[in-house]
Amino acid sequence: MRVAINPQLCRAHGQCYMLVPEVFEPDDNGYSRVYTAVVGPEFSDRVLAAVQLCPEEAISEVED
Ligand code: SF4
Repeated sequence: MRVAINPQLCRAHGQCYMLVPEVFEPDDNGYSRVYTAVVGPEFSDRVLAAVQLCPEEAISEVED
């Protein structure tokens, strides 16, 4: 699976990179970016939870 963050929606709440630091990371201002292009299956459950939990709906799953 792949995920993307819409930088225009992200408000730097931090839930995603606290929940899945292996996939999301904060930039210098706390806005999230995707750390890895392809999400391994071992992280998919937490990534889907991050998609659901993002208050801004800024994270989306991307079709391969
Ligand atoms: S949870 Fe959503 S709004 Fe918060 S840092 Fe992650 S992508 Fe941005």
